[in-house]
Amino acid sequence: MAVFVNRTLNLKKIKMIGFDMDYTLVPYHTKRFEQLSYDMAKQRLISVCSYPEEIGSLKFDFSRAVVGLVIDRRNGYILQVSRYNKVKTSYYGLEKVHFREQNRIYGNMTLDLKHPDLISLDTYFAISHGVLYTQLVQMKKEGLPLPDYGQLEQDIREMIDLVHRDGSLKQVIQDNFPRCVIQDARTAQVLERYRAYGKKLMIITNSDYSYSRALLDYAINPFLKHHSSWQELFDIVITFADKPLFFERTARFLRIDPETGLMRNWEGPVTGGIYQGGCSRILERDLGLNGSDILYLGDHIYGDVVSIKRRCNWRTALVLGDLEREMEGIRASSEVQNQINTLMDAKDQLEQRINQIDILSYEGTRKNPGELDSLYQEIDQLNEQISRLLDTYVSFFNPYWGQVLRAGFEESLYAEQVEKYACIYMTRVSDLYDYSPRTYFRPIKRIMPHELMAMKA
Ligand code: IMP
Ligand code: MG
Repeated sequence: MAVFVNRTLNLKKIKMIGFDMDYTLVPYHTKRFEQLSYDMAKQRLISVCSYPEEIGSLKFDFSRAVVGLVIDRRNGYILQVSRYNKVKTSYYGLEKVHFREQNRIYGNMTLDLKHPDLISLDTYFAISHGVLYTQLVQMKKEGLPLPDYGQLEQDIREMIDLVHRDGSLKQVIQDNFPRCVIQDARTAQVLERYRAYGKKLMIITNSDYSYSRALLDYAINPFLKHHSSWQELFDIVITFADKPLFFERTARFLRIDPETGLMRNWEGPVTGGIYQGGCSRILERDLGLNGSDILYLGDHIYGDVVSIKRRCNWRTALVLGDLEREMEGIRASSEVQNQINTLMDAKDQLEQRINQIDILSYEGTRKNPGELDSLYQEIDQLNEQISRLLDTYVSFFNPYWGQVLRAGFEESLYAEQVEKYACIYMTRVSDLYDYSPRTYFRPIKRIMPHELMAMKA
């Protein structure tokens, strides 16, 4: 698939290319990965947090959550938010919240996403979090004794954190790489090509060294044509980086012995080798690079993209696995989309007529009082047809949430972050295979509403 461009990016000028590892250099079968995370976190909720055994019978429904959603811990809702921070769709447990009820709670409120009661699902690792939350809120609504909505969210978050941190989830993944990891031969070829063109390469991952080594051995080594292992490709590998803090703090690096995995304090310059911890400030200084010399590719919209743009001024690329499905849905639903557009145009005409009548009546020259009623009736009928078509349209995407990058007619909050903070975006790293390492990525011109109107006239 293509690489999409938000801001001009001249690859020729990029001296160093950094990669996040999980879900960027190495994609996973998300549904299988999150099923495991869900099952293990659910068991921990029973054994560590003493939740009722009944929750054990819950089945993982992958579609219940998508990246970019926001959990409202106070009300127990899960929200899809527009680029203007308005709630556009919400679920209370498994039940879609009726428009009127949603309006009563959130009205025209602009959400402050920094509020501690609002938790964004920023990565595929958070899908299990969203699914467990909706299902447990549903069980609580049905009378199961569970903590309040805020505590429930915190318990789920902590148990998912635990299974990631204590090594139990990683061990199962590592024992099942062929089932959980997607091997993509062209990623290795893209890396070798960059290397041949003199680019420096690095990895900055939140995973530990031992897991990273096993994963990269599996996902990269079998496909290398001119190198014997991934260690030869990457100048610098930084594990346990603790992003986004890596881009915000000042912290020393530890040096890792690649053979034994043993660590020692590192006082020297960070120019090559395998490290743990550290920070972007020391890295840039020791490499003698400016922010604009570095391109970083990641999947975590906050940890890999937004925080970099806010703190370091590196160039950024987002890897968004959902993009392919999203584009397929758009193509397949084009007929329905056309029908919706036609009906919306018709509705627009009727509303314009109502406006005219309003103005005439204000000026005392209104002639046909019955016309307004019939116009409103026609609009009601159109609304019903449009609403049915919208349900059909959404069915081409996620059955509960529709498109990841839209919230109703508007772009989603997630889409806005992509547009604002990612210089380029793509489905997978290997999409770069079709582009030379000297490509000049140029954005297409964006069209504003007044420009569109002027062009139509
Ligand atoms: P990266 O994408 O290469 O930076 O790696 C992400 C790492 O974060 C993986 O090792 C994940 O297992 C880990 N991870 C994801 N979610 C959580 C969490 O909620 N708590 C702790 N670690 C996490
Ligand atoms: Mg990642």
